[in-house]
Amino acid sequence: MIAEILSVGTELLMGQIANTDAQYISRRLSELGVTLYRHTTVGDNPARVKQALDEALSRADVVITTGGLGPTEDDLTKEMVAEYFGLPMRLDEKSLRAIEAYMNRVGHPMTDNNRKQARFPEGCAIMENRCGTAPGCIVESGDKAVAVLPGPPHEMKDMFDRQLAPWLARRSGAHIESKFLRVFGIGESRLETLLIDLFHSDNPTLALYCAPGEVQARITAMAADSPAAQALIAPVEAEIRRRLGDAVYGEGAENTIERAAFDLLKARGETVCFAESCTGGLTASRLVSVPGASDVMKEAHVTYADEVKMRVLGVKRETLAAHTAVSAECAREMAEGARRISGADWGVSTTGYAGPGDAPDGTPAGTVFIAVAGASGTDVKACHFRGQREFIRTLAASNALNLLRLAMEKR
Ligand code: ATP
Repeated sequence: MIAEILSVGTELLMGQIANTDAQYISRRLSELGVTLYRHTTVGDNPARVKQALDEALSRADVVITTGGLGPTEDDLTKEMVAEYFGLPMRLDEKSLRAIEAYMNRVGHPMTDNNRKQARFPEGCAIMENRCGTAPGCIVESGDKAVAVLPGPPHEMKDMFDRQLAPWLARRSGAHIESKFLRVFGIGESRLETLLIDLFHSDNPTLALYCAPGEVQARITAMAADSPAAQALIAPVEAEIRRRLGDAVYGEGAENTIERAAFDLLKARGETVCFAESCTGGLTASRLVSVPGASDVMKEAHVTYADEVKMRVLGVKRETLAAHTAVSAECAREMAEGARRISGADWGVSTTGYAGPGDAPDGTPAGTVFIAVAGASGTDVKACHFRGQREFIRTLAASNALNLLRLAMEKR
């Protein structure tokens, strides 16, 4: 199969951004065994996009475009592909609903221009955009095909890896399979160092995807069929698990840290009670976001002021006087208090400075203590996060859920 890349974007021609999309796609095509003939870059100009498409399709079987899928008037890549193949544009209701849901989630009003992003050349296969608004698509006609991807690199990579790569592998007669391992508590650069030699393999390939506080490692293999792909993935997975130990907490793109904590509680028939200060209920809310949470959580407390920590959780006045509320000692008494007053199997606490600005006594913003109390003792962790207030609170909640998960795996 012969491919070409057509990058659409005036910023690329003006030198305002580097064409990292083309670099990424080129590398992935070579891993997939697809021959790449050319890169072409054109500005956001309909006539030139169409002409470039015409020329690329005269040489290649598949043309992969990036950019020009946005809501504005000059984003016309899909329309030019439709015109090239002589297809009308049709509204896709499912994509429209997904775009509406995304705009709601990020709190922006839906405009008529967003509706344009839900229109596609008739009969194409739509690729959903899990990281933004503009879905992509694959338009096939005879032995030619055009795959249309969004410009923003994180949207493009996600769509390429999850949707276009399997299609390309199928079309070239191979089977492609990925496995995602979820890793908590090891940053991306340290993870890269720990796994550096595994990145040198062409099949299976290894890639890392980052989220606040955690990383997903994707292992992708290409083979004749699924058992052969799994046989290639298995030894690499075993080696990653051996090197990272209990930092690997789950599998699958959807398996979050709250889901992992929930699954363990549920499997053990146990319950948890949270006592939160700097996270203000965020940890409990994350657990409650998992359907069925009422089986594992009966109550949670936001105990912000010192007086409330004493009255509700039984934190000792002397502890607060000697160590302040942001201390390992206070976190321990909060978690043990939460466990005692609720009768739950586990008590989990968070107390810290989310910022902005350091505490009056000079303790830096981002200092957070987390504790998990269980039947056989209490674990306390001191964390030193860096970032904005909301980011610190998110990391604190994620770490509390992870400490709970580790405590359950240990006992
Ligand atoms: P949007 O929905 O955000 O408008 P789009 O698919 O229309 O996305 P463009 O408007 O062309 O894409 O580009 C959006 C942004 O994505 C650019 O400002 C740039 O930051 C990034 N981008 C676009 N093309 C590339 C590329 N080839 N390489 C790297 N970054 C790119």
